[in-house]
Amino acid sequence: MAYQIAVLGGDGIGPEVTAEAARVLEAVGRAHGHSFVFEQGLIGGIAIDTTGNPLPDETVALCQRADAVLLGAVGGPRWDDPTAAVRPEQGLLGIRKALGLYANLRPVKLAPALLDSSTLKASVLEGTDLVVVRELTGGIYFGERGRRDGGRTAFDTMVYSEAEIERVLRVAFELARLRRHKVTSVDKANVLETSRLWRSTADRVARDYPDVTCEHLLVDACAMHLIRRPASFDVIVTENMFGDILTDEASMLSGSMGMLPSASLAEGTLGLYEPIHGSAPDIAGKGIANPIGAILSAALLLRYSLKLEQEARAVEAAVDSVLAQGYRTADIAGPQAETVSTTQMGQLIARHCSSD
Ligand code: NAD
Repeated sequence: MAYQIAVLGGDGIGPEVTAEAARVLEAVGRAHGHSFVFEQGLIGGIAIDTTGNPLPDETVALCQRADAVLLGAVGGPRWDDPTAAVRPEQGLLGIRKALGLYANLRPVKLAPALLDSSTLKASVLEGTDLVVVRELTGGIYFGERGRRDGGRTAFDTMVYSEAEIERVLRVAFELARLRRHKVTSVDKANVLETSRLWRSTADRVARDYPDVTCEHLLVDACAMHLIRRPASFDVIVTENMFGDILTDEASMLSGSMGMLPSASLAEGTLGLYEPIHGSAPDIAGKGIANPIGAILSAALLLRYSLKLEQEARAVEAAVDSVLAQGYRTADIAGPQAETVSTTQMGQLIARHCSSD
């Protein structure tokens, strides 16, 4: 079967790492009898430079007719002026809205070979295997905002409907059923009204999943427990801004920004898959970026959009094997270790997938 994949490389190292993710998809496809048609689209800074628009209509149309979207990263110093009317991140927020991507999944699982590259002790990290499910299209990032008093007072509004909360909670509960049957719902219900609605909705939804344990945690306590006892979490579900902050914190458990994937899901099977890191302008064009976050995002694409679980596992196993053999890109290599380039890492992982 031939799958249509929209590839939005974006800026900085984005095109370098998505190229390796595409290489690995081709390899795993060859080994399992699938083919992929990759179509490139513009997003972010490069789209501003080329068309004046960070999210051209053709890019939205390309994504809408694809089976899934692979994205690199957007942004860079060239477009950094926060007061500019047109900015690269508008491309990201725009594509999330246009595709209705309301649930962002960020798995954090440590490759056994990399236990020592985190700033946390290996004894604290051992056994960490969690997923943060972040609500992506509501909350304070999308609420009414503005200025009063001639600009001297500013406000942002956090708004959530019960339906918005319920659909993302259901993603988390369904996911927990495929994992260790535990959901931690994170809010600030001691202060925020949206959080009180979040908590009562979580209690109601939990009744439909008697096989899943549901606990509530305040966001400040969650931030602490994430680095105190990360292995105790299975699925964490939370609203947009809390999720934004907690996912960055959780990403550091793994030791490198370059290692972690994400999936953004809509109703149906269309999804957008991207590494959690940014465009890393400091290393762009040098061929040294770690492509593993993008490659593991391709594994999530196989799992969630194409429902090819065996193929997804083959990619994840290939990453573990290549790391276990000692191959490292510069960001995860110790001071003495020899390193491989972005392309070499992609080729090594692809070779493992084809020999699966
Ligand atoms: P960043 O994630 O791009 O980089 C942070 C640090 O991690 C840098 O030192 C970088 O070299 C390193 N790093 C990141 N990914 C790596 C990889 N795959 N391999 C090796 N090292 C890697 O974050 P930043 O520097 O804060 O942001 C740079 C630009 O990216 C900014 O314009 C920012 O707005 C944008 N950004 C985009 C996204 C996105 O597209 N989703 C996310 C975050 C930041």
